[in-house]
Amino acid sequence: AHTTHTHASTRHQELLCIFGTGDLGRSLGQRLLQTGYRVVYGSRRPHSCGLLPQGAQVRSHAAAAEPASLVFICIHREHYDFLETLAPHFKGKVLVDVSNNLKKNLYPEANAEYLQRLIPGAHVVKGFNTLSAWALQNGPSDANRQVYLCGNSAEAKEAVAEVATKLGFTVLDKGSLSSARELEDFPLQLFPEWRLPLRLAFGLTVFFFFYLLIRTVVSAYVEQGKDISFRIMASLANKVFPIVSLIMLSLCYLPGVIAAFLQLYRGTKYKRFPDWLDRWMLCRKQLGLLALGFASLHVLYTLIIPIRYYVRYRLNHTIPFDTTMAWRTDSYYAMGILGFGLYLLLGITSLPSVSNALSWREFSFIQSKLGYLTLFICTFHTYLYGWDKFLWVSGYTWYTPPGYMLSLVLPSAVMLLKLLLVLPCVDRSLTRIRQGWERSDPEDDSKNSLLT
Ligand code: NAP
Repeated sequence: AHTTHTHASTRHQELLCIFGTGDLGRSLGQRLLQTGYRVVYGSRRPHSCGLLPQGAQVRSHAAAAEPASLVFICIHREHYDFLETLAPHFKGKVLVDVSNNLKKNLYPEANAEYLQRLIPGAHVVKGFNTLSAWALQNGPSDANRQVYLCGNSAEAKEAVAEVATKLGFTVLDKGSLSSARELEDFPLQLFPEWRLPLRLAFGLTVFFFFYLLIRTVVSAYVEQGKDISFRIMASLANKVFPIVSLIMLSLCYLPGVIAAFLQLYRGTKYKRFPDWLDRWMLCRKQLGLLALGFASLHVLYTLIIPIRYYVRYRLNHTIPFDTTMAWRTDSYYAMGILGFGLYLLLGITSLPSVSNALSWREFSFIQSKLGYLTLFICTFHTYLYGWDKFLWVSGYTWYTPPGYMLSLVLPSAVMLLKLLLVLPCVDRSLTRIRQGWERSDPEDDSKNSLLT
């Protein structure tokens, strides 16, 4: 172990410079020293800058930059202006901008572009900003961390990439310095692809809660003067959750169907989808996972039915055994259980560790074929719940249909449309279009011949 250690430390004795002795500067310096680099800090107060990693030197900014060819600028952007006076010392050197901002669009240009404008003679590389000081300190145990880089000089990027690789990071090149803004916005993201699905789930939950509240609790009070508000806690919740779940699951499959019809209509796959459809397609996984979450709540609420006081109270009234009723309720539960089982399978295969281990064909088989089967079984489960109640006039309190009937509209439509798409003649055209075939438009042809 001793010989490998000395071997490692003699192999790269390169000297790197870090400006700023703050949190990030110290963590980065410690990591670099551990890897075998020599480190020199540039500081405003070289003699009183607190505890630094052992083995590092501290000098004034100019003196520190002099012997190094690579300088990490671990200083906040608002203090960059003093760097301009040091421009002559940076000629031909690589400057690594690691800065982040507190908000998006705080400044007209990206921090790294600003730095490049201050010191045109240096090669600015943006990078490391997506790591935290904490991650840098604890990094070696986690081999999976990625470092994004961008910059205009290929050699400069290569130099920084070499350092990052030696520190144990995986480097991802994001191109020229104009990508700096994207990298700087990265740490400020707050679940961007979850936003739309979460809003939708929230909106649907609120809508159906009040819809069912009015239909059950309020109508019972107004019409019969009965107080059944206790139903809000379990019965109502156990109606809202499955309804939202089924609607979200069908919303997960609706954009695919719309996209297929759009391709059929346009006769090509080479035209871009409208933005709203693109965005919708991109959050299908989140829609599905939220649907699974609501389905899980429905399962849990269903499990407590037998221990509910209200149910035990009602069980004291004996009613004659009805075989049809037994068949109906058992099938309804069985469909629910099977549907939930498939739901779980879909959820598990959406985990990156699982989906990465699947071939594309396996993944699309599960997400598409089994996905539609899940949708079918869950919809069937809901139809069984309704049974013949669709025909009962008394069910339509205040001329409104029960919630579960509303929840059936979208999944039924999705499955109907999907059924049209798998008809052999339609499927053949769609497959051809997806393989790159394009329908030539007779109108276009006539226009072309007129032009020539
Ligand atoms: P910090 O702890 O506040 O340290 C900043 C350092 O900059 C100070 O220690 C100081 O060093 C120097 N400095 C402060 N005011 C200055 C001035 N007026 N002129 C010149 N130098 C000045 O900040 P930090 O957390 O290390 O962050 C540094 C940079 O890294 C920021 O741009 C931040 O966005 C970025 N970053 C931080 C993290 C993190 O986890 N902390 C993660 C990613 C990116 P001297 O006293 O030695 O001069």
